[in-house]
Amino acid sequence: MSEQLTNEQINEAGHLTIGGVDADELATKYQTPLAVYDVAKIRDQIRRFKSVFEQNHVDYAVCYASKAFATVAMYQVVDQEDAHIDVVSGGELYTAIRAGFPMSRVSFHGNNKSLEELKMAVENHVGVIVLDNFHEIELLDQVLRVHDASVSVMLRITPGVSAHTHEYISTGQEDSKFGFDLKSGQADEALQEVLANDRMNMLGIHAHIGSQIFELKGFQMAAQKLVEIAASWQNQYHYQPEVINVGGGFGIRYTKDDHPLAPEDFVDAIVKTIKQSATDHDLEMPAVWIEPGRSIAGPAGYSLYTIGSRKDVPGLTSYVTVDGGMGDNIRPALYQAEYEAVLVDKPNATPTETVHIAGKYCESGDILIDQQPLPASKPGDVLAVLDTGAYGYSMASNYNRNPRPAVVFVENGQSQLVVERESFADLTHLDRSYQVK
Ligand SMILES: *Cc1c(COP(=O)(O)O)cnc(C)c1O
Repeated sequence: MSEQLTNEQINEAGHLTIGGVDADELATKYQTPLAVYDVAKIRDQIRRFKSVFEQNHVDYAVCYASKAFATVAMYQVVDQEDAHIDVVSGGELYTAIRAGFPMSRVSFHGNNKSLEELKMAVENHVGVIVLDNFHEIELLDQVLRVHDASVSVMLRITPGVSAHTHEYISTGQEDSKFGFDLKSGQADEALQEVLANDRMNMLGIHAHIGSQIFELKGFQMAAQKLVEIAASWQNQYHYQPEVINVGGGFGIRYTKDDHPLAPEDFVDAIVKTIKQSATDHDLEMPAVWIEPGRSIAGPAGYSLYTIGSRKDVPGLTSYVTVDGGMGDNIRPALYQAEYEAVLVDKPNATPTETVHIAGKYCESGDILIDQQPLPASKPGDVLAVLDTGAYGYSMASNYNRNPRPAVVFVENGQSQLVVERESFADLTHLDRSYQVK
């Protein structure tokens, strides 16, 4: 059995269960490809993060970085857990509004927020706008004047810490496209602009060093750096940030070869580093905010597919093809992300062969899993790819005009459709015919 699964997830029939429901039944009831979320896992991870702060007696916010998976139902679950959210676009903000998410607990991120998006954020009274660049400070100032409004802001800085991770998903280095550079003095200049603007309430300082990070060191260095910046701002400008926001990026286990710390252990180390460093610099302990995306949504998600065709290249290799692929999970094609999968009606069976799990899209790179040990399988069997909850559905596309899958939430033995499967009609509903004039 995959080490990603626990014995409780196997029922009497020997099938995989998700949230107490047989995965085979879910596939029959809702069809495949299907994104399934175990809601208890989402809640549990948020609660674990919170308990780290409570044990350390530190003011905090757990901000779910919703780009990992953003739907109305997901925002509602995060709201039920009293957590905050990050949004990075007008579309995510709109979805949060539709979900009834409290705007005071929204942070608006992004390295190119449009005038329209900033207007939308101000009109809807979002809690914090995380400023990324000078152009944005100007745009926000315009919006605030027109609306005769004020808003809390944070400055995103690039602390010059590069965590060891795949380069496509690392964002903390000095040459990053995100945030104000520290070394060249941009961050200080931005601080002075914001402090001089009485419509902007300078709440704190933000850094996000990367994603799927396995090592403590990068986080500790970034946390320490942020406190050092706070101390230098206190000395130079008599300004002390109320909030130090260390971003997200806590690595999760996708395969047996991944050995990250538990996500909450990263946070414990960060909090302790900030505490120590604040004491060293004679600073009041700020509130600590974190922005986990993947570690909240990832392990809770499963992708169910039906197996179709098979290609054996004698003496070389075998492809087992499923009814989804890069359109519902681009990560393997985009950055060689790895996953594990099981057959839902025999997750415990001993593998008898190693195959490629191929998708149905017209790209040779559409391979969901490069080397998957599997027991004998046949067309019609349902395959569950594990830990697909983050950056799967949220990056889904209609490539090859395939409809995007449905999404189902499961909790306490009950399943509920939370995003409908796209229909063929949905695929063309924005299309207009072309008339030669
Ligand atoms: C993407 C992102 C996150 C979340 O990263 P994960 O790796 O999903 O935890 C947090 N903060 C910011 C600013 C981000 O861009």
